[in-house]
Amino acid sequence: MAIPLDMTQSRLGSIFRRMKHIGVIGAGAAGLCSARHILANQGMVPIVWEQSEKVGGTWNYTLQTGTDKHGLQIHSSMYQNLKTNLPKEVMAFPDFPFPEGDESFLHHSEVLKYLESYAQHYDLYPYIKFNHHVEEVKPIIKDHGPPSWSIKVKDLNSGEFSTTVCDALLVCNGHYSVPRFPVIKDIEKFKGRQIHSHNYREPSPYAGSRVVVLGASASGLDIMLELAPYAKEILLSHNLPVPIPSKLPSNVRQVCGVVAASENGFIFRDGTSAEVDIILYCTGYEYTFPFLNKDCNVMIEDNVVKPLYKHLIHSMFPSLAFIGIPFQICPFPLFDFQVQFFLKTVTGAYALPSKEEMNEFVQKDFEGHCNFGQPSKHFHKMGSIQWPYNDQLAQMSGIAPLPPVVSKLYKAVSHSRQSMLMSYKTASYRITGLTSFERVK
Ligand code: FAD
Repeated sequence: MAIPLDMTQSRLGSIFRRMKHIGVIGAGAAGLCSARHILANQGMVPIVWEQSEKVGGTWNYTLQTGTDKHGLQIHSSMYQNLKTNLPKEVMAFPDFPFPEGDESFLHHSEVLKYLESYAQHYDLYPYIKFNHHVEEVKPIIKDHGPPSWSIKVKDLNSGEFSTTVCDALLVCNGHYSVPRFPVIKDIEKFKGRQIHSHNYREPSPYAGSRVVVLGASASGLDIMLELAPYAKEILLSHNLPVPIPSKLPSNVRQVCGVVAASENGFIFRDGTSAEVDIILYCTGYEYTFPFLNKDCNVMIEDNVVKPLYKHLIHSMFPSLAFIGIPFQICPFPLFDFQVQFFLKTVTGAYALPSKEEMNEFVQKDFEGHCNFGQPSKHFHKMGSIQWPYNDQLAQMSGIAPLPPVVSKLYKAVSHSRQSMLMSYKTASYRITGLTSFERVK
């Protein structure tokens, strides 16, 4: 917002008071996208709190594991050699392409650079309070309309606490930081090493080892490929209905899910067993919002965050939104649609249904998901339904949907990942039209 220089302090003060203050927790991709669209709305100003000293969230690779200099858990789950599993041509925010280049699958440092230049381009830095950790969030219930939010924050450098009141709040704290561990009978008996993919950094410590990689989602498959040239043997343990249909390194064997441990190894679901040195849990992450006071009425049950209308807006307190809850998605574009839709509801440009109607919608959506034979823990898993979801948010926001080429290329890459896991990242793509792309390498 440009403020005329000759404006008196009191007029400035009154304009500032009339502005809607929109809080944002976190300056990762979701928080940056939130700040960028808040700033695009006249009459709104963002206040972003970021516990670290940089933008980019999980894309800030560090060799460190455990806790940081302030005693906070290390947030990033990046590993040294990680390349994206989506091509840059679909990964980008709709209004900010990645720089042109030959490669489609980028090293994590390139994604960090991209997010830094996004923050620079939209002039977001003045609105971010770095080294500020959000400690407690409470609703301030009003007689009419949605609540305001009281946000208590600790300045990690000075140790001082302060409280800010915001008209609306976007929670963008990331969902790939707090490891999830499965229950394994007798796990305390296992004498080998146990490590979660959150703390995995590079393959050399696994040289000559026999490793169980537990889980065959994105991280499990990627880390298995990294370890293969180093490890003696890898058992890729999973409960997928069929084996991974791709050629795998010769020292990788697919086995069923782990059910129990012994001193020297593991027993699998089909009763077979193996001796191993290390188990590497690629078993995903927990949703956590440790700063939400109980009055916020947010529950997490079996991996479902409740009560969220459209996986996004708190149905009882619609001035509170959670960006990026869905998984198996193309994250940056989905964040963009979620943020824009939420802000339309804050300005009143889109009128949300009543709380009762939203609750009913959430309940029916959830029941529909379960009746379809899906486990409740996969309620936020989107896969192919992310495209109609994005389109619906775009339509309700009155903004352009993604061009069809994005879902087309995303699907093509998903197929090539399945059948050519070991080599799909060597391909390179170029978008040639709203509905077309070509493979250039
Ligand atoms: P984050 O990036 O986690 O950012 C959250 C921010 O909130 C952090 O900066 C954190 O410090 C801050 N924060 C948290 N709590 C507080 C608090 N209490 N107070 C203040 N600040 C706080 N996506 C892709 O599109 N392509 C890929 O190839 C891809 N690969 C991935 C590989 C790995 C190993 C992981 C973990 C994720 C990958 N992703 C990928 C998904 C990635 O998480 C998203 O793309 C996206 O970066 C998530 O952004 P976010 O803002 O939601 O969360």
